[in-house]
Amino acid sequence: MRRKPVSSSADLPYSPPPKPMDPARKAELKTLLLQAEFETVALIRSHSTPLSPVETEVDKEFDRMFVISHQVCLERIRQAYSRLLVDEIYGNCKTCGEPIAIEDLRAAWFLPACHTCRGKQAEEERTQTAIKAAQRALHEALPVLGPQS
Ligand SMILES: [Zn+2]
Repeated sequence: MRRKPVSSSADLPYSPPPKPMDPARKAELKTLLLQAEFETVALIRSHSTPLSPVETEVDKEFDRMFVISHQVCLERIRQAYSRLLVDEIYGNCKTCGEPIAIEDLRAAWFLPACHTCRGKQAEEERTQTAIKAAQRALHEALPVLGPQS
């Protein structure tokens, strides 16, 4: 095996290449995405033909929007499938790169982050909300400061 030449970007922060995916995990994720695709196609079909001959304009509009949003969803599932088969990165956390638990992906195939990173993000959001609430309370208590800009 030939060694790769040392790149000039050696002083950039090191980001490890994705680890090769465990074949059992890959097979499970494949099944999971095919199932999601199957269910989405079935939903699109069920809303593509009128349920009743006396469907109202509102019903038709609802079906049209339903089909459009599920077609977008279908496209995302197919992109995820390609990320799984070609790049072997589907199911990895976009923040830390670690594999997301299969049971979490079963509940929501589109999860972008692992349990740990989702927890950190939720904590960060709670902190930001608390800071904003405290700032609001401070400005209400001190009206002399004027409205918050
Ligand atoms: Zn993570």
